[in-house]
Amino acid sequence: MPDIRVDVLIVGAGAAGCAAALSLPQGIRAIIAERRRNAAGRCCGGLLAPDAQRALVRLELTIPEAATVLPSPRTVNVHDVDAGLHQNYRRNYVNVDRARFDAWLLELARERADFLPGAAVTEVARGDDAVTATVRRRTNVIKVRAGIVIGADGAASSIRRLAFPLARRPRTAVAMQTRIPGEAALNAYEVFFARRWTNFYAWAIPKPGEVLIGSAFDDPASAGGRFDEVIRCVKERLALAGDPLERRSRLLTRPRRTSDFHAGDERILLAGETAGLISASSGEGISYALESGAAAGRAVASTEPASEYRRAFAGIRRRAAWKLPKARVIFSPPLRRFAMRIPWCP
Ligand SMILES: Cc1cc2nc3c(=O)[nH]c(=O)nc-3n(C[C@H](O)[C@H](O)[C@H](O)COP(=O)(O)OP(=O)(O)OC[C@H]3O[C@@H](n4cnc5c(N)ncnc54)[C@H](O)[C@@H]3O)c2cc1C
Repeated sequence: MPDIRVDVLIVGAGAAGCAAALSLPQGIRAIIAERRRNAAGRCCGGLLAPDAQRALVRLELTIPEAATVLPSPRTVNVHDVDAGLHQNYRRNYVNVDRARFDAWLLELARERADFLPGAAVTEVARGDDAVTATVRRRTNVIKVRAGIVIGADGAASSIRRLAFPLARRPRTAVAMQTRIPGEAALNAYEVFFARRWTNFYAWAIPKPGEVLIGSAFDDPASAGGRFDEVIRCVKERLALAGDPLERRSRLLTRPRRTSDFHAGDERILLAGETAGLISASSGEGISYALESGAAAGRAVASTEPASEYRRAFAGIRRRAAWKLPKARVIFSPPLRRFAMRIPWCP
């Protein structure tokens, strides 16, 4: 395949990459390079928090009914397993089938940008007026020359590592999920804290005919064994009878300080988890991916895209930064216990 010249190269077809494509100004020649052949259906809880719902409204998108599922949790039940405490609070989630949600977003994004599935960006080189990316697709090596690159390649970002080798990178955890089949009398989003399982939390999310159980672990070597324990205990607590179906895993960004959030530079804009954007306390990242991706796409219309993006990024980063102290409280057993005794504290 010959080398390609485009105005914008978007790396990654997740929520951030698709939102970027959807927000590009008219007349821009853009390509989305996506490493996976089938870009839809990432390992995810599929809960759209109110911020994600608002981000979709700002993108003027309405989720098709076929991508939503029931029940839509209206309550979060928080269990501190070690302390034997329980608390709940209200929050309106939209529950989605993540594969259908991804497929829908990608279909819309493909109306605005050419799509290269199975195409991994493995190198980036900055020139005076463009960035040249090396894209490997099957046995082909393609050079894509782009005025702007939007790095939206997720928690294990190659773009952030290759383009900003000296910048701090947020730590990641190995997140695992499994599905327990069977109709459960579960309408809430169940959250469990137990230090012996993880220093993050475990979750159970109702889906049609099954319940998703998941958690995230800092140490990849012991993650599998700890997840077995999570599944066993959560099943017991929620009286779930079925045997776990397939287990999936994916990296989850766990930002700790504001320097983990990185907007990129003049020609390489970072969005979504690549930019470190995710809630440090809940791991909810779809809203950040949609917002930052959209801001990066819109910034391309400006005569100074990087400054324009940095301005928008500052607001998104502020929201993410608020979650850092919250994470310190909820992941510290004594502080969490104190907070859980305050009735109004979510
Ligand atoms: C188990 C789990 C459950 C979660 N549940 C929720 C939830 O319920 N609600 C919520 O709001 N958030 C949730 N999150 C977080 C949320 O899924 C992410 O923060 C969000 O999807 C990030 O979107 P993104 O576009 O930044 O990255 P991604 O969705 O990771 O997309 C990045 C894309 O880039 C591609 N890619 C990677 N490297 C390259 C490369 N070199 N070249 C080309 N392409 C590349 C990848 O294949 C991928 O498709 C969850 C996360 C995990 C791990």
